[in-house]
Amino acid sequence: MENDLQIIRDKISKCRLCRLCEGTTNSVPGEGSSRAEVMFIGEAPGKAEDLQGMPFVGAAGKFLAVMLKEIGMEREDVFITNIVKHRPPDNRDPLEDEVEACFPYLDAQINAIKPKLIVTLGRHAMHRFMPDLKISDVHGCDKRVKSIFSKKQIILPLYHPASALYNPSMRSTLISDMKKIPILLKKINDAS
Ligand code: URA
Repeated sequence: MENDLQIIRDKISKCRLCRLCEGTTNSVPGEGSSRAEVMFIGEAPGKAEDLQGMPFVGAAGKFLAVMLKEIGMEREDVFITNIVKHRPPDNRDPLEDEVEACFPYLDAQINAIKPKLIVTLGRHAMHRFMPDLKISDVHGCDKRVKSIFSKKQIILPLYHPASALYNPSMRSTLISDMKKIPILLKKINDAS
């Protein structure tokens, strides 16, 4: 598993499949436990992530760490990544062809880790798995979807942590949605 993740990481560091690698400092493949039960998927690296080569290390990442603490978890217990592995210029949204080009890496990470639960952060990550849903309708509600490698995958869509940075009501929504993670994990573990 760890070895598989290292192979994917090496491929990402050399990736030239789309324009996003141009002008970046580092690729940001993702980090965390190869045995994680929970995998978090955000949108794309920002400036701090590009500089450090690590996901969610800027302001949104600090809030993600606070929310993880709220449910008794640390970054090291989970796996954190993004749908695209290089920072888009000026933090623009990733384009459809960039998301498509990068998806095999994400799928390979999912297959290597086989998380019991995927938590998508924001609408871009959610749309990769559930294109027809609106995040305002389904945030905090677990869904079962077909993914390429696993027959079914449980996904919990959450708002993006950046949306809470200047909006206290979003902050409490995110924290209360986040608290569903241990409840869901217990349900999944009890059923298996
Ligand atoms: N926002 C994201 O979606 N991902 C990161 O890694 C950082 C901020």
